[in-house]
Amino acid sequence: MSSTVNRLGVVGAGQMGNGIAHVAAIAGMSVTIVDAQPAVLERAKGVIEQNMARQVKRGLLDEADKAGAKSRIALAGDLKALSDCDVVIEAVTEDEKVKVAIYKQLCPLLKPGAIVCSNTSSISITRLASATDRPARFMGMHFMNPVPVMKLVELIRGLATDDATFATVTELAKRMGKIGTVSEDFPAFIVNRVLLPMINEAVYVLYEGVGTVDSIDTSMKLGANHPMGPLELADFIGLDTCLSIMQVLYDGLADSKYRPCPLMVKYVEAGWLGRKVGRGFYDYSGETPVPTR
Ligand code: NAD
Repeated sequence: MSSTVNRLGVVGAGQMGNGIAHVAAIAGMSVTIVDAQPAVLERAKGVIEQNMARQVKRGLLDEADKAGAKSRIALAGDLKALSDCDVVIEAVTEDEKVKVAIYKQLCPLLKPGAIVCSNTSSISITRLASATDRPARFMGMHFMNPVPVMKLVELIRGLATDDATFATVTELAKRMGKIGTVSEDFPAFIVNRVLLPMINEAVYVLYEGVGTVDSIDTSMKLGANHPMGPLELADFIGLDTCLSIMQVLYDGLADSKYRPCPLMVKYVEAGWLGRKVGRGFYDYSGETPVPTR
């Protein structure tokens, strides 16, 4: 039996967290977003406003619904603000240590029946669940980027996830206007198990000098009919996230075919993480993105 979610918490106000809050507020839930960095919270507020304004312009949302949704979103710097939430979706940096440290702080503050979900792109849900006080009420809810546009949510049960939790989260995804697919709890689930090795291979193709940034992206757009080239997509996802997913695949499946490309490692070491910092395989400071190699 699923139960209705009225109050939703989101931890992490980055690209994914603000998108999750956006769709939940439009679906009628009261949403509180928590982030450790006040500047990120402020930016998230601006991004949500801009994205909702775009939906109004396209006729996908009316002004009254936009105002209602905005009024249902609260921002906070402390996890204590999530104490009355029915469900909390964690969308912080793709780093297991960071996520586990948050669960340790968060869980004692929550209602005993509250459900915790992770938006992780790749990390074992069973392992994350075991770091909480509620493995039965924990599961993966993997949204796609940008959340207000992309239809899919991958639903991933850990070994201990109970049926009521799965039913509630499946219903929540539907209410947020998403289509859920079920993936078993193996490294990177379905979408990223297939997508990330392709992106990593594109970085190898660049590293080996087989093509330039421009020729690789143009080839895949025109030759495989992809809406974005793989390097453009890597910048969009965030190169730190891409590298973490490759590392999870490499460690979790113990197969050398998942070895992260050294050039991807170098870009992350340089802090060239993609669109979110203004520079990755492209430089985003001007009108049109310019390849950085
Ligand atoms: P991001 O870098 O844009 O945002 C991460 C946020 O986490 C930052 O705002 C940071 O301040 C915050 N954070 C870090 N430590 C924190 C703490 N202790 N307390 C509170 N906030 C903290 O990253 P993102 O792209 O939004 O990714 C977030 C999660 O979503 C990751 O698990 C990622 O794998 C997953 N994801 C990403 C994508 C994508 O395309 N980028 C798609 C699906 C899922």
